[in-house]
Amino acid sequence: MECRSVGVLGKEQAHYSNTPLLQLCLLCQISPVKVEKQPRSIIHLDMDCFYAAVEIRDRPSLRGKPVAVGGARDRRGVLTTCNYEARKFGVRSAMPTFMALQRCPNLIVLPTRFDVYRREAAAIRGILYRFTSLIEPLSLDEAYLDVTAHAGAPGPLAQVIRGTIFRETKLTSSAGIGPNKLIAKIASEMNKPNGQFEVKAEEVLGFMKDLPVRQIWGIGEKSERKLEELGVKTCGDLQRFSRPELVDLFGKFGLDLYDLCRGIDDRPVEPDRPRKSLSTEETFAVDLTTLEQCEEKLEELFQDLMADLAQKESTRDITKIFVKLKFNDFTRTTAERAGLAPTLPDFRALLDEAFRRTGKPVRLIGAGVRFAETTQESTQMDLW
Ligand SMILES: [Mg+2]
Repeated sequence: MECRSVGVLGKEQAHYSNTPLLQLCLLCQISPVKVEKQPRSIIHLDMDCFYAAVEIRDRPSLRGKPVAVGGARDRRGVLTTCNYEARKFGVRSAMPTFMALQRCPNLIVLPTRFDVYRREAAAIRGILYRFTSLIEPLSLDEAYLDVTAHAGAPGPLAQVIRGTIFRETKLTSSAGIGPNKLIAKIASEMNKPNGQFEVKAEEVLGFMKDLPVRQIWGIGEKSERKLEELGVKTCGDLQRFSRPELVDLFGKFGLDLYDLCRGIDDRPVEPDRPRKSLSTEETFAVDLTTLEQCEEKLEELFQDLMADLAQKESTRDITKIFVKLKFNDFTRTTAERAGLAPTLPDFRALLDEAFRRTGKPVRLIGAGVRFAETTQESTQMDLW
């Protein structure tokens, strides 16, 4: 069934319906409009200043003080995260440590303990799996949950999930609840920390209207400047442009913009696809001839690997670590060891072993980890 005005309205009206199959056409208010997709319930769950929160939980004497986690000042370090007490001084994550200390001389800067955060994140992930198996992790402390199939309303459900996390880990989290990933993600920022915000399907248009355009993903500095020149500050401003106009201005991304500024986002929540290993590698323009040169490069690769690991596979158990070398004659060798933690000294030992096997000039270095079989299935519990 279709209202004649559907062509005018566009299919997006369908997304604002709470009824699964039919709604009244918003234009004529009489004809039913076929709804193409069943509305979804998405929760974006975000732990509050996760690394810092873990440190403070483990050292209660830090409570109430400005605390950050990250690199040391004397080694050109950068902060990974900081608590809200530190933010009051203008300290932010990704800020150089020396600058943060200028703004907040009493800031307590702690080194990162990724093994602890990973363990904690795994416990939290385990809690999430009790509620849905449709979980898409974004990083160590952030995930989308599709709870459409859950019997409970998503708002109270988010409350229960956050309550369970707090009871079991003593860590607070925030949540955004909405009919899609875009809305859920934006909403999770609205009542941070230790709060949640729900945008119901029928509230989406109103919610988007005054939202700054930069809150839409994909809008970088360049697009933002372009939009500013056009006098566009809010999503409401952007809604005045037609599809063809936006395509003219932004190319293919214009089509996305047309939907996104209306709060439309069809992307599904994509659960983890378990991979067997994760590695980074680099091919060098000039072959490396000494172990020292290789060690220097290895350190860079190690940092990349750890960042990648934290983002993509933050909770998996690592069974092996390896270093791979390709030589100038295109032969290769891999040194790997089970039972080693992914630490720089252990990777260095493997590099040393692999390098000494031939002593040939090195063309490529790779460093990586292999994972245990996924335990996702076993941590899932069907509660509905
Ligand atoms: Mg967070």
